Amino acid sequence: MLQTVSKLISARVARLLVWGLTLVPLTAFALGVRAADFQDLASILNLLGRLTGVLGLAFLLLSAALSARVPGFDQPFGGLTRLWRTHHALGAAALIMLMAHPLLLAFSAQAHGEGLAFATLFPALTDLATWSGWLALVLMMIFLAPTFSFFGNPDYERWKRVHQLSVAAIIVGLLHTALFSRTMPYWSDVIVWTLLAGMALGAVLWRFVFSRRVGRLPYTVHEVRRPANNVVELTLEPRRRPLKYQAGNFVYMTPFDHDLDNGHGEEHPYTLSSSPLEPSLRMAIKDLGNASRALQSIKPGARVTVEGPYGRFFIDPDRVGSPELWISGGIGVTPFLARMRHLAALETGGDIRFIYCVQDEARALYLLELQALAGRIPGCKLVPHYFYREGPLSQTFLRENCGDIDQREAYICGPQPLNRLVQAHLRALNVPRRAIHTEEFELL
Ligand SMILES: Cc1cc2nc3c(=O)[nH]c(=O)nc-3n(C[C@H](O)[C@H](O)[C@H](O)COP(=O)(O)OP(=O)(O)OC[C@H]3O[C@@H](n4cnc5c(N)ncnc54)[C@H](O)[C@@H]3O)c2cc1C
Repeated sequence: MLQTVSKLISARVARLLVWGLTLVPLTAFALGVRAADFQDLASILNLLGRLTGVLGLAFLLLSAALSARVPGFDQPFGGLTRLWRTHHALGAAALIMLMAHPLLLAFSAQAHGEGLAFATLFPALTDLATWSGWLALVLMMIFLAPTFSFFGNPDYERWKRVHQLSVAAIIVGLLHTALFSRTMPYWSDVIVWTLLAGMALGAVLWRFVFSRRVGRLPYTVHEVRRPANNVVELTLEPRRRPLKYQAGNFVYMTPFDHDLDNGHGEEHPYTLSSSPLEPSLRMAIKDLGNASRALQSIKPGARVTVEGPYGRFFIDPDRVGSPELWISGGIGVTPFLARMRHLAALETGGDIRFIYCVQDEARALYLLELQALAGRIPGCKLVPHYFYREGPLSQTFLRENCGDIDQREAYICGPQPLNRLVQAHLRALNVPRRAIHTEEFELL
């Protein structure tokens, strides 16, 4: 209970802290506001135009600072997926503010004639200050558009390359601000933007320079098992120090193997399916796209790197405090497999109902091992749900197999439609929102 509260509070506090950091430029901005800024509509629009510029840049810099992906840094946010939701929200807020910024300034200038409004938006080509602002905004639109799925689901690797334009957008945006720099009292301008730009730059440097050198641990593929036609389980041996992690964590794994048809040098997130007590790492990889399909043919001896651990799915992976309900679908079984392997290795138990959603017996990944593990973990009951025979998972099925459902911490990991369906069922069955924990295998 205490841990749930601390998990919730710290995730909320961490997010509030990030949003609260925008109060720093806001306060500095407020110090520069004069009575004349409110004298008529044009002055107010001008004030709002400058304010949206300041907030937009602050949101953009904070969003960049959150993209660092330093192992452990995601913990107070409740895991990397949640941290990236904050990053995403800040990016969206930045775009809205920065689109409103030139429009508000132009509306303000319109009070002095349409010519001035037009010149505010499109001045002489030599006006570097204004044109650098436009360039930053256009760059932002280009690198953010795929994120908002304007053009359908993007190819992940192309999306990542386009997203790197954010570095250019930030530099040009800072140049634009430095060239204008009229809004805040002089020193606060310098201090505020240096602080936020330093955080953003530090994050980018970590992500693209240091994390590759010090953040990635070298491993060798020791064994390749095939639990199903389209799934491989890799066992990885450390070449240097082993990774420390908890059951339910995931890592970014990068294969360095020219024999692969695809994905050489490409990092992808995979949940560790081993118990942290095992000397090697294990991960089960389903063929879901080009790189994961190529990994189906990886051979023992191949070199990979592992970066992490990330994520915070289970409240306390080492023990079962309050009663738990687990619901998994497809490859979403991996965090539960890790936890069961871990609880069995620890020789501990609890009160667990595990509803394992599969299409039919033939596609029930790891079913035999899960049944054997459930037999070794006191208080763990595994209930398979067969879609082809029983239809979509229903509230009746949940109630029949878990009478005290509203008394349990619920953990869900599966395809998005299943995640959504189960969350709706749980809410209808009076499970409090704070007791529902989900892991999504989609980070965009
Ligand atoms: C936290 C987390 C844990 C995961 N654990 C597992 C696991 O245990 N086993 C497993 O088989 N799969 C897991 N996945 C999914 C796995 O990362 C994707 O299947 C893999 O990245 C697909 O890459 P691809 O090039 O083969 O496919 P693509 O064709 O590039 O993409 C297929 C899908 O995967 C998504 N994807 C691709 N690359 C990434 C990336 N780097 N980060 C986030 N999403 C991406 C795309 O948005 C797309 O929806 C996990 C994903 C996340 C976010």
